[in-house]
Amino acid sequence: MTRTNAAKIVNEEAIGELLCGTTTAPETSLVLDVLAKAKELKGLDARDVTVLATLQDPELLAELFRMAKEIKENIYGQRMVIFSPLYISNLCKNECLYCAFRAKNKALKRRTLSQNEIRNETEILIKQGHKRVLLVAGESYPQQGFQYVLDSIATLYNASVGKGEIRRVNVNVAPLTVDEFRQLKAAQIGTYQLFQETYHRPTYKKVHTGGQKADYDWRISAMDRAIEAGIDDVGIGVLFGLCDWRFELLALMQHANYLESRYGVGPHTISVPRLEPAVGSDMASHPPTPVNDTDFQKIVAILRLAVPYTGIIMSTRETPKMRRETFALGVSQISAGSRTNPGGYAEGEDLEDQAQFSLGDHRSLDEVILDVAKLGYIPSFCTGCYRLGRTGQDFMDMAKPGLIKQHCDPNALSTFLEYLLDYGSQQTVVAGETLIANAIERMDKPTRQRSEEMLAKVRNGRRDVFC
Ligand code: SAM
Ligand code: SF4
Repeated sequence: MTRTNAAKIVNEEAIGELLCGTTTAPETSLVLDVLAKAKELKGLDARDVTVLATLQDPELLAELFRMAKEIKENIYGQRMVIFSPLYISNLCKNECLYCAFRAKNKALKRRTLSQNEIRNETEILIKQGHKRVLLVAGESYPQQGFQYVLDSIATLYNASVGKGEIRRVNVNVAPLTVDEFRQLKAAQIGTYQLFQETYHRPTYKKVHTGGQKADYDWRISAMDRAIEAGIDDVGIGVLFGLCDWRFELLALMQHANYLESRYGVGPHTISVPRLEPAVGSDMASHPPTPVNDTDFQKIVAILRLAVPYTGIIMSTRETPKMRRETFALGVSQISAGSRTNPGGYAEGEDLEDQAQFSLGDHRSLDEVILDVAKLGYIPSFCTGCYRLGRTGQDFMDMAKPGLIKQHCDPNALSTFLEYLLDYGSQQTVVAGETLIANAIERMDKPTRQRSEEMLAKVRNGRRDVFC
């Protein structure tokens, strides 16, 4: 993609114009109008997002949070999708100044997992109860090149322990060619995830000083190539802390709108990583434009209103407290029990000199599940849509009129029950069974009937029951 084409995705000038008129806080009536518009679940435009991003008044902020909660509950109910990252290699030829994996970082011990080691890591995740994995790697593969990623996906899908297996592999690797994306699609990945890090060209240039990743246009056009190759679930994101968050939020919206208008469907997910300390990186410990906790919550809430049907992912970079607070504001997917050093699950710890960044949440999967359940959310390991081909536009066509709930709710309960029966601690089982019983009570009759049938099958020993 040439620079001219890439410029069609993000229009920095238009964002500048929107933001330069915001030296004073927006009128209360304007904010309330935007909140009322958001309630219709049709999303928000750039002007609306600017209004919310610049509001200051604590009462209006509380209103924004209240609306985000309402929309979240309306669309996602009590469900919270759970996944785990699996880092296969920390080798990288790029120079991203914020990342421990960058090529010139001598403080990092390099490690690339063999297929046997990847199988071992996968088996550990399966034994914990995981069903969804996000495969992550630096941008440098061993001799086999990109085939290494494809082999690793096959290893993940082929592993099984007892009644468990990984049912959906999402992938977060460097941008690929259309042909490579086709191979990724053939390997049956779920979502292809890639973060632009910063949409602001001058900042992008400053923080990416070497390697292929220094090419902004190659990165921003990755989703076009992925979609051309037939991958219809794509996930975008920003690494918050590199540049003014208001700019990033508006640019993220432009990217989402661009995908929607060009391909008929926007991003399946949006991730909101915030810069965390990383070994050998001064920038990671001293973010150029730090995002404070309130603004971070605001980002999540605004996204929930602006793109109500797009999943929002919260990783273990954040503390348990921040994660809990953002569940209510719109987060729909979380990682749990994560390690960011290759081989970290077998090592049993996040070895700092091999990890990509420091974690904020060190709890095990079962501890997170118990916490999530106690908060009233149903942990979901569902992979039903992807396996029934309800992806891309097909998914959105069902999600927007609210039809997807009839599938998501029973699938969340059946996969949660699987977790409880096969992997849950006694405490989690008690909390989980109560949660399931209460959720069933609240369902409409047809969904309740379907759920009860599916739960009965799981209790009778069937696994992987979905609709
Ligand atoms: N290497 C590929 C790339 O850069 O796209 C794929 C995965 S990279 C290992 C995953 C993500 O980690 C990056 O896109 C970046 O947003 C995030 N990351 C890097 N350094 C970080 C840090 N210090 N704190 C938080 N997130 C970080
Ligand atoms: Fe490499 Fe990705 Fe880290 Fe950049 S963010 S140094 S590309 S692993």
